[in-house]
Amino acid sequence: MSRSPSGRLPSTHLKGARPLGSKKAESFTESVIREMTRLCQLHGGINLAQGFPDFPAPEEIKEAAVSAIRADVNQYAITWGSKSLRDAIARKYNRVYGMEVDPEREVVVCCGSTEAMIASMLAVVDPGDEVIVFEPFYENYGPDAILSGAVPRYVTLHEPDWRLDPDELAAAFSERTRAIIINTPNNPTGKVFTRGELSEIAALCRKWGVVAITDEIYEHILYAGQHVPIASLEGMAERTVTINSLSKTYSLTGWRVGWAVARPRLTDAIRKVHDFLTVGAAAPLQEAAVVALQLPEEYHQRLAADYRKRRDVLLPALEKAGFVCFKPDGAYYIMTDISGFGFSDDRAFARHLVETIGVAAVPGSSFYHRSEDGAQKLRFTFCKREETLRAAAERLASLQLSK
Ligand code: PLP
Repeated sequence: MSRSPSGRLPSTHLKGARPLGSKKAESFTESVIREMTRLCQLHGGINLAQGFPDFPAPEEIKEAAVSAIRADVNQYAITWGSKSLRDAIARKYNRVYGMEVDPEREVVVCCGSTEAMIASMLAVVDPGDEVIVFEPFYENYGPDAILSGAVPRYVTLHEPDWRLDPDELAAAFSERTRAIIINTPNNPTGKVFTRGELSEIAALCRKWGVVAITDEIYEHILYAGQHVPIASLEGMAERTVTINSLSKTYSLTGWRVGWAVARPRLTDAIRKVHDFLTVGAAAPLQEAAVVALQLPEEYHQRLAADYRKRRDVLLPALEKAGFVCFKPDGAYYIMTDISGFGFSDDRAFARHLVETIGVAAVPGSSFYHRSEDGAQKLRFTFCKREETLRAAAERLASLQLSK
């Protein structure tokens, strides 16, 4: 079945009636992930679909937010971010990766990395430009391409280890390519791009004058390999937009504080788009973000160790229930193969799972531009308390019986 570039079916409207929505809005439908969350609530299920933690965020960050509100940090911050947060972001890139970032000219604080991504796309891409997207992809990149008028050019990450074929990668670049979207550690596959792979991408970006837009929100959630920001590779700082947020590292998905870091020529453009999109992120939460970004390295190590434990609860439970798992090296998702269950379609199986077993997962087709490529896949998240994961494991065990 052919699909819109969003990877989802267009919504229908009454025959003969003029649609009230724009063609852009008509071409993508509600996020499948949020739809699964709704179904899950309806059936009293355990939500392993949407990537938000069910455990508390660090106390000191919450306290800092309360203090900022009490101190009446209530009005608009500077549109591209409060000085204190921009300084903290620049310091962190320097401390962790040795990158030089000018907080005055090279940072845009946004409403989550979601806004940072669409603001960057709108700032970099002209309608008709090609943007390279690795597939499977995080489902927002499809609509981001539509909203910015980009023509997505997909490059496959090959199972089982989500390998990149250098020839296929090189063939995707041309005069028409304006940008490439990278997400490492990767949602949904758990792949961590190696320095070698990133160097190949970087060489092609330099050759063709392409901007790398890199979503690194899982940078500290790693079980194998090393996180390499592509901006830190030779000649790449000038042509990279590095995107991140508080959401995953500090378990604060609802705060909506993220940022884009890039050299002034790119930042100037992103700041203008950002200003007109949202004016700015929540001012008191920006002050609390400063406290988050100052947490010591041990915080990141504990975060990764805790997620490893959670992965090691869910993964064997899925395998025992009959799923073939792609073991993640990073991020907090497990992509699975469901062919053993005899369902022709991932959506039907996801519905079956939530309705009869009470566990919600995301149908694999939401990560592919051709639904058939994901028809035998399901993605589970393990950003939940161990007891939540153990409860899910118990329910999944009964799936084994119902096979
Ligand atoms: N990018 C990726 C790869 C994600 O997986 C998610 C959330 O799941 C986001 C961005 C959204 O991040 P934020 O909450 O910072 O907008």
